[in-house]
Amino acid sequence: MMKQYMETKKEYPDCILFYRLGDFYEMFFEDAITASKELEITLTGKSCGLEERAPMCGVPYHAVDSYLSRLVAKGYKVAIGEQVEDPKEAKGLVRREVVRIVTPGTNLDTAALDETKNNYLCAIVYLTDRFGLALADVTTGEFFATEFDSSDKALDEICKYAPSEVICNESLHMSSISQEELENRCDASVSTLDSWYFSESICTKVLLEKFKVSTVDSLGLGEFACAKIASGALLSYLQETQKTDLSHITGISVYTTGNYMILDNATRRNLELVETLREKQKRGSLLWVLDKTKTAMGARLLRKYIEEPLLSKELITKRLESVKELKNQMINREELREYLGPIYDLERLIGKVVFGSANPRDLLAFKNSLYMLPFIKGLLGEFSAPLLVELEDELDDLRDLHDLLANGIQEEAPLAMKEGGIIRTGYNEEVDRLRAAKSEGKEWLAKLEEEEREKSGIKNLKIKYNKVFGYYLEVTNSYKGQVPDYYTRKQTLANAERYITPELKELEDTILGAEDKLYALEYELFQEIRRTIADNIVRIQKSAKAVATLDVLCSLAYVAEKNNYVCPTINENGELDIKDGRHPVVEKMIPGGSFIPNDTYLNDKKQRISVITGPNMAGKSTYMRQTALIVLMTQIGSFVPAKSAKIGLVDRIFTRVGASDDLASGQSTFMIEMTEVAGILRNATSKSLLILDEIGRGTSTFDGLSIAWAVVEHISDSKLLGAKTLFATHYHELTELEGKIENVNNYCIAVKEKGDDIVFLRKIVKGGADKSYGIQVAKLAGVPSSVIERAKVIVNELDQADITNKIKDIEVNAGRKSRTKKPLYDEVDLSQMSLFDTVTDDDVLKEIEELDTESLTPLEALNMLHRFQNKL
Ligand code: ADP
Repeated sequence: MMKQYMETKKEYPDCILFYRLGDFYEMFFEDAITASKELEITLTGKSCGLEERAPMCGVPYHAVDSYLSRLVAKGYKVAIGEQVEDPKEAKGLVRREVVRIVTPGTNLDTAALDETKNNYLCAIVYLTDRFGLALADVTTGEFFATEFDSSDKALDEICKYAPSEVICNESLHMSSISQEELENRCDASVSTLDSWYFSESICTKVLLEKFKVSTVDSLGLGEFACAKIASGALLSYLQETQKTDLSHITGISVYTTGNYMILDNATRRNLELVETLREKQKRGSLLWVLDKTKTAMGARLLRKYIEEPLLSKELITKRLESVKELKNQMINREELREYLGPIYDLERLIGKVVFGSANPRDLLAFKNSLYMLPFIKGLLGEFSAPLLVELEDELDDLRDLHDLLANGIQEEAPLAMKEGGIIRTGYNEEVDRLRAAKSEGKEWLAKLEEEEREKSGIKNLKIKYNKVFGYYLEVTNSYKGQVPDYYTRKQTLANAERYITPELKELEDTILGAEDKLYALEYELFQEIRRTIADNIVRIQKSAKAVATLDVLCSLAYVAEKNNYVCPTINENGELDIKDGRHPVVEKMIPGGSFIPNDTYLNDKKQRISVITGPNMAGKSTYMRQTALIVLMTQIGSFVPAKSAKIGLVDRIFTRVGASDDLASGQSTFMIEMTEVAGILRNATSKSLLILDEIGRGTSTFDGLSIAWAVVEHISDSKLLGAKTLFATHYHELTELEGKIENVNNYCIAVKEKGDDIVFLRKIVKGGADKSYGIQVAKLAGVPSSVIERAKVIVNELDQADITNKIKDIEVNAGRKSRTKKPLYDEVDLSQMSLFDTVTDDDVLKEIEELDTESLTPLEALNMLHRFQNKL
């Protein structure tokens, strides 16, 4: 046995091998040591032919799922070595094979997974200069792929999906994405696979065979060589680990991020879209406010909507119109939501059906879900918004499958699959016949019991059953003397004796024979029904998608009504006009009605940048985030918290907010801040919305102020960037820019002085704040009064006038040439400024250096020249 074990283990060196021995899965050697520690189970030993006993531990087979999930959640891979022949029939050692490998990204134990999140496995490959990405959720069968030309974009996209496992090729380590970065940024278990997984010919073959097509073009992968390799490798990995044909993965959807707003990781986290920044929990996030979905599928889809806001006016309008109609038709909507309520996770159920782990109860839940579909379809017919009409059309009510289950599976069916009680009476004649024999047998037993009682005079004689002895007659000790001589004793207990008779034995054979046959037949029929369902995967998946979409739209409509949101109007001329906007999350977190609404106005002309000043705690970041969230909500198709909102669609939202908590990466806060700023200035376009909070805070006042100043200049210049921006700063000196640059405007959040204290009014007003009230805020925060008093004295002593006067003298620098000629201050170290210089010239030089002039078309060359000119 140990030899067999060692041979199997050799094939799966990177997995913990669960080796089936009777009713246990045993682990040996290193695996046993690791597992006993991680699972807190006892480590024992087994003699194994070596001098020392092999370390060993085990888990009972019936509880294996929870142990498996615990190991997998910790990032381990587990290979399941199963007995593949019946021990009764095996000659010699029972054959064992690894039937499945469970990894973090391929865990099918839905009980251990969060049903409101997808559990993604991600493959990332790097080939020459591109990154290919493929993602699959084996519990639902979703499978998609895309590719990128930059590591930043690829990483942002991976983080968006938060996969639990990432597989990659060796070359990835030659790109700028390191294994540690992947592990840290996505909190996933990362492994590098052998090169054959990524071979072009194997990948193509795997994809063609899986999807039964003749070219990868028909899968939409023709133009995406990298995405193709990632998808092929991911499929091979799934086949290697799951060892099934994965028939619920019915297609691949290849997408380009061009359809969605790209949100970099920092922005997604800063805006607290699906979890809060600090506690990493849903409560307090935008998802928490918007998620009133009724199904797990809807919850997952809403999360996806939030992470992928749309760019197309047409698609956004379509969603908004359906939300509007669902909001207005309140009674129908609430009825729809009631019908959605009992719907089971159809997507994950399909996964279970395909993997053969769906039990009779799962099928009953499935039936009950299908029962709701005709009602939903019928009610959808009452709506006229185009998207709802489409959904009605796509929703197949799957009547045939419902009827099959309703007729085939018994209402009270158990969890177990091999102990009968599954198939409904009337579905199959043979089942009914065997069942009758079984129940008649029960009557015969009762009759025999009665006869024996009379014959022997033993009043409390009983016929009982257990698995070891089968049926027997039980006589308590007080009647032992009356036992007839044709009874054969089988077992003696403390207070009773157990017997059999030839007649009882005969009855037992008939009854148990019928029972065995019945159970086997029921299991077979159950599997047949399950297979029929599996054959209808594509229809079910389509209906499941329609249900999920409807659920999300109903949730958005419900939230819009309950939270008093309005339907935004969309424009493409860049005008952002929000009246009485509110922060969707903060308004929920503070006492009802106490949130003070505020207006936002930005456009592409004279209102491009708002410089916002005001003391700490005044509400600057709340205001800026609320603007970003209102734009984002619009682009996912949601109503927004405002009295009215005209939203100019944006291509990206960037945020740079406060000190990053990314300290683990070992970079200084200032370095992180500047890296993020550099990233924003490089990637933003004139159609982006920028939220910049306290730029330059992480360094000395002079440097910080100079950087902040230069950033505003850069953004405001439409030749360089020209993005709409909210810029909060504690440098009051920046308010000087209002008069100097025509599209910069000052705003501040009003506070009222009350004696020595201040009151926050939370209202945004035109103009700059002239005081920072730092000492008053410190007092509010409870800093001891002796410190506060001392600070007041110091403030008076420090002469700020000098700095402010100098600022007044600075000319605005348009473009780089004048900027280098004329430094902001005599004492500024110019090397600090170079960050921004490199954003322009060095970039251009580098690009020119790297140009492959041989392959450029004249048109491309002209365009490029134009771009360079703009940058200089
Ligand atoms: P700042 O960025 O200026 O330091 P914040 O935006 O963090 O200030 O706001 C501080 C707190 O003030 C928030 O946590 C919130 O509770 C409250 N607050 C902010 N804006 C409003 C508002 N418009 N209405 C009511 N409370 C607000």
